[in-house]
Parts: sequence; C-alpha cells; structure tokens
Amino acid sequence: MNVLIINCGSSSLKFQLIDSKTESVLAKGLCERIGIDGQFTYAPANGIKETSQKPMPTHDEAIQYVLASLTDKKNGVIESLEEIDAVGHRVVHGGEYFSKATLITDEVMEAIDKCSDLAPLHNPANLIGIRACQKAMPNVPMSAVFDTAFHQTMPPKAYLYAIPYKYYEKYKIRKYGFHGTSHSYVSQRLAEYMQRPADKTKTIVCHLGNGASVTAIENGRSVATSMGFTPLAGLAMGTRCGSIDVAIVEYLANKENLDLEGVLDILNKESGVLGLSDGLSSDFRDLFEASKAGNKKAEQAIEAFCYNVARYVGQYVAVMNGVDSIVFTAGIGENVPGVRSRVCAYLEYLGINLNITENRRRGEECLISTPDSKVKVWVIPTNEELAIARETVALL
Ligand code: ADP
Repeated sequence: MNVLIINCGSSSLKFQLIDSKTESVLAKGLCERIGIDGQFTYAPANGIKETSQKPMPTHDEAIQYVLASLTDKKNGVIESLEEIDAVGHRVVHGGEYFSKATLITDEVMEAIDKCSDLAPLHNPANLIGIRACQKAMPNVPMSAVFDTAFHQTMPPKAYLYAIPYKYYEKYKIRKYGFHGTSHSYVSQRLAEYMQRPADKTKTIVCHLGNGASVTAIENGRSVATSMGFTPLAGLAMGTRCGSIDVAIVEYLANKENLDLEGVLDILNKESGVLGLSDGLSSDFRDLFEASKAGNKKAEQAIEAFCYNVARYVGQYVAVMNGVDSIVFTAGIGENVPGVRSRVCAYLEYLGINLNITENRRRGEECLISTPDSKVKVWVIPTNEELAIARETVALL
C-alpha cells in the first residue's frame, strides 16, 4: 500500500510517499512560500533532489506539483495516481474530540475546524491541505493523525490548570500536550526493542528538537507531558520560553510598551536558548561551538536547557513513582551527545550510568547506558511520517 503523508502549514506543505509494506520512503519533498512566490523541492529515493521556483498561489497548485512529480515519467516513483492508496494528514489539534487517529469525514472536518480556535496557526492550514488533497484525489481515503491525541489519556489532575473550573467548561482551557505522534512512536519502538509489552513499562520520552517536550508514559499511555494548552509551555526550547511566571507578560508589556501580541511574539520567537544566548542562535551546533570558544551566555543557555529537561524528568519519575527507561529523540535528542550527558548527570540519583562510548553515537537507535545502569537510557530516532503511515494503514 502506498500512503502519501501530508504535513501542511499556512505557507508550506511537506510530503512523503511511503510504501507501507517495506516501510520505505519512495519520495519526499516540500512546497514552500505558498501564496508568496512558490518553491518546490522534490527528492525521489533513488534520484536527485531538485529545487525549483513554481507559482503556487494556493495549496491547490502545491498539491498538483506534488502529484505531477510523483507520477512524472522521468523522476516519478509511481505510474499513476491510482497507485496512491491513502493519504495521511498530520493535524495539530484534535482538542477533546480525538483520542486517536481517524478517517476523514465531513463530521471530522467540522470537529477539526472547531479546534481551530485552539490552534489558529495550524488547524486552518491543516484543513486547507486536506481540502486540496480531496479536490485532487476525490476517491482516495484520507486519515487525520493528531499531535494531541496520544495525550488524551492524561488524568484530570495532570491536564487541569488551577484556574476557575468554569473556564475549562466554557472554553476548554486545559493542558493538551503536543508531539503525541512522536512520543507514541518512540515508546512503541522501545517496547519492541525491549521485547516487553508496552503495558508493563514506565518510560520518559524527551523529544528535543526546535520544539521540545518531555512525556511520562506509563503502561503505554501518556500520563503527563510538558507542553500545555499550547506548545509554548514546558521546556525552554529553541526560541520558545517554555513555562514562565504569567505575570511577566503584563510586566513586560508595560515596560516595553507592547500589546499582548507583541509580548507573545517575543516569548515564541525570541526566547528559549536563542534568548538565553543573547540572540546568538537557537541551534545547538552554534551554541556548542560558541561555548567551546568561551562564550559564557551560550554555555549558560546549553546548561539551562539541560537543567530544564532534567527537571521535567525528575517530576515525571515522581508522577509515575519510578521509571524504567529514558529515551532521547528528535534533532537534539538524536544528535547531541553533550546534551544527553549533561541531562543524565543531573539524574545520577536514579542510578543512571551512561556508556560514554555509546553516547557518542548520533542519529541511530542505541542503548547509551551501561549494563549495570538501573534506569536504561536510549536514543530512538523519531519518525512521525512513518507513524502516520502506520496509523493510516491500521484505520483502513
Ligand atoms: P523541529 O522541531 O523543527 O522538527 P528538529 O527535531 O529537526 O526540530 O531539531 C532541530 C534542532 O536539532 C536544531 O535546531 C539543532 O539545534 C539540533 N540539531 C540537529 N542536528 C544536529 C547536530 N548534528 N548537531 C547538533 N545539533 C543538531
């Protein structure tokens, strides 16, 4: 079965065509600057990656370029559109409507639309992508796989904020959590690795990318997660501040003469390790380089990031009354040994012992703790597209 995975943003559309039998990527690519001028990148698995300028006034044109490239005589990977058996859409917010992936129907579209309030930057874009695909492939079944769904198993004590209860009832203000597809994929992969049923495990997954979150997964179910009502909460990230005292918002607005939007812009785009390093970079490659060259703010940013990850791990050990495995994933988790070792240095009380040699590995599945380490530490690269393809096939 060939599944086309679509991850749609307001001006971008990422895609992968996955053969679900071999779980291999046949082709992937990216449409950028949709509605502006349009740039198209296409990379067939056995061919050459190409980037070209293409007019893309809307997502409809973008999806047309995707389909034309996939079926192109020279660089295509399938003969015709008939060979696309299903489309899996990444949808950011499923609110309380969706606790798992679902096939897309008119009612599902309506519910996704109702969640647009909760994710105004993402859900409308996801809907545009779904509609563009429906237009281009009217008879192909489509699924929606939600970033929030995996965390719907959290108990009320974990998802309720201590604000008047009526605001939860009236506006659904609560913790939702994100990166669910990644946390779920990685924890399942770990259970396979350990040859242990997922329902007998206590795992903490640290998804550390540009956006970052930590999740406590008990018996295969999310019981607590660091992101909240929005992805701004929890860890300090690349450019997001993470959880801070909310009173700062008003104080900063007054001092800098900003409106709410202006302050939120700072907290979303100029904070995190970028902010801590005094604007140097949100990328850990730059931060480590600068730190090695003696830049104290870069060093502080790295250490604060690791401290925060360890802080959440500590919380989640308490929440689950124990932990068997800690997993690092995503750009930083998979590729930065220095972050993993610094986080684990805070966790020695758990009986964690890192294997220094194994911890040097990057981007591959590996156990990085020593055989006598009481808690096992793993690196498991995430693969959200494959997870969406699997969910889609399961639904069909
Ligand atoms: P996103 O949230 O955008 O999906 P990723 O999971 O791709 O983010 O992570 C991107 C981040 O991972 C980069 O900003 C960088 O800090 C870090 N990163 C990725 N690869 C490396 C590497 N080889 N060395 C150091 N840092 C890396």
